[in-house]
Amino acid sequence: MPINILSQETINKIAAGEVVERPLNVVKELVENSLDAFASSVTVEIEKAGKNLIRVSDNGCGMDKKDLELSILRHATSKIENFEDLSHIHTMGFRGEALSSIAAVSTFDVKTRKKGESSGWKLSSNGGKNVNVVPCSGSEGTITEVRDLFFNVPARQKFLKSDSTERSRIISSFEEIALANPEISFKMFSENKTVFSASKTNNKLERISDILGKDFAKNLKRAEVEHPKVALDIYFTGRDNSLVNKKYQYLFVNSRPVNYPKWLTHCLYQAYRESIPHDRYPGILIYITIDPSEIDVNIHPTKKEVKFADEQSMYDIIYKIIKNTLVSHSYPEIKINIEPTEDMTLKTPHILNNFTHQHKENYSLRKDDNVVAEPISKYNPKNYSIDKYANVFARQQEFVSESFDENIKVLGQIFGTYIVVENKGNLYIFDQHAAAERVRYETYLSQIKTQSLKMQQLLIPETFDISPSGAAVLKANIALFNELGIIIEEFGHNSFRITSYPALLGNVTIEQIIKTIVSDIEDDKNAEMKERTDKIIRCACRSSIKAGDSVSFIEIKKMISDLFKCNHPFTCPHGRPTAYKISLNELEKFFKRK
Ligand code: ADP
Ligand code: MG
Repeated sequence: MPINILSQETINKIAAGEVVERPLNVVKELVENSLDAFASSVTVEIEKAGKNLIRVSDNGCGMDKKDLELSILRHATSKIENFEDLSHIHTMGFRGEALSSIAAVSTFDVKTRKKGESSGWKLSSNGGKNVNVVPCSGSEGTITEVRDLFFNVPARQKFLKSDSTERSRIISSFEEIALANPEISFKMFSENKTVFSASKTNNKLERISDILGKDFAKNLKRAEVEHPKVALDIYFTGRDNSLVNKKYQYLFVNSRPVNYPKWLTHCLYQAYRESIPHDRYPGILIYITIDPSEIDVNIHPTKKEVKFADEQSMYDIIYKIIKNTLVSHSYPEIKINIEPTEDMTLKTPHILNNFTHQHKENYSLRKDDNVVAEPISKYNPKNYSIDKYANVFARQQEFVSESFDENIKVLGQIFGTYIVVENKGNLYIFDQHAAAERVRYETYLSQIKTQSLKMQQLLIPETFDISPSGAAVLKANIALFNELGIIIEEFGHNSFRITSYPALLGNVTIEQIIKTIVSDIEDDKNAEMKERTDKIIRCACRSSIKAGDSVSFIEIKKMISDLFKCNHPFTCPHGRPTAYKISLNELEKFFKRK
């Protein structure tokens, strides 16, 4: 096959494909350039979802004639000089390929006037060719105009979605940038109509409220971690305000919106797992300001991913801070903004001393270097043992819950399902099954931790068959089941035998419970060992509690007093609430006694 050397034009078009896949990438790159040019105000105008026109105007530093001419050359950048510079990058851009890529696939012009100069320059080009620079008037800053995107790459054009889809992608991307940079004012127009407008503020919550709505913002809790080398500012929903999807989950690293890395998704799952139902999601915005040498931003063509050198510490601190807030202010109605405490100091063993960042003045950086966060829930299956699990449990106990006194007055059962209790000036209505599940779950964990799991031996071992896929799951997890006191042996082809199981599960059809657990594990094949362990325990507890069971008053009293000793009395292990609280105060208000 003969080899051809590609023309510069073709090379640029190919390169453009990496940076500019759709109009939203153009908007993002141009807005990032405005931010890098220290603009305090950025306006985006689009027509036909950016397919006809994208215009980004800023009041930033502008360019002189020489820089303007260089700006659309490939790999022309004012932001780095060499590869080493990447390790202390403070700007959004650094590859010097956005303008050349965008120009290669559009009718492109840039009007710019450098700060302090009396007039400016205008560059125009067509598909990256016929570049022409002429003097022009205009205010300080830069206006970049992109028309007829992909006019010369029909394949790319065909690949675009409907206007409404492309437009909503642009809007979401622009919203992310606006959330990440509250100190900059942003405006957006589509077909000359305002899409949104957010004026600059020093208060992130105000910006969150402007972009994501007052209703969402007003329920957020806030936690800050301050450290000389890293700062976290986290806004998150509590138990009561979980959402039906993951739409409101944002991560900003040094003001750059990035995707959630896998470890963060896992971390949030762990932190919220016991506080919200399994089909609900938290809303959360995490702002991380960190020494650039501690991250790698150069791992993704559109810079949407960041790699942290010390993921474990990040994981630990985010987990701890959220879990702590969710659990310590245990009752849903209490809404508290927690202040930074000693406890929240981040373990950052190897971060450099020269930490500087754009928004330093917003943080009161502290000098202490306390190490608090032990690795919490990173699990190494190879090292699995009950001891490891006991550690996780020990950590959970650190989180205090709302306190109760000995004086628990159980008033009775209503509607066959709810238990009415009085304690410390509050009336509680407990969901009997959720409460029983919680008690059983914590008893199970505690017996494992203290290696005092009480077993019941079956006089005649139960034998059962299971589907081939179920059998594979069971075989792969047989050691885990055994460690958790569910003793199973293989007994022929797709057939198993149970000899004993934990006494606390009571008189149950253990075969049914095992099958439920197996299908739960099958549904989530990628679950790590620790998640599987938890699944088994939670599922066993849930399935062992039968709805409609009649319970004696003495049993109810015992269960409630056990529940009040639990670490998380107010949610069942699957995150549903166990109780509804009415305080004496509320009653008095209702009856107008106060
Ligand atoms: P990068 O942002 O990676 O440096 P770009 O192709 O996006 O690469 O931009 C090239 C250069 O053009 C930038 O480094 C900057 O010097 C200049 N530039 C681009 N847009 C602007 C702007 N809005 N204001 C000032 N300078 C700009
Ligand atoms: Mg750029």
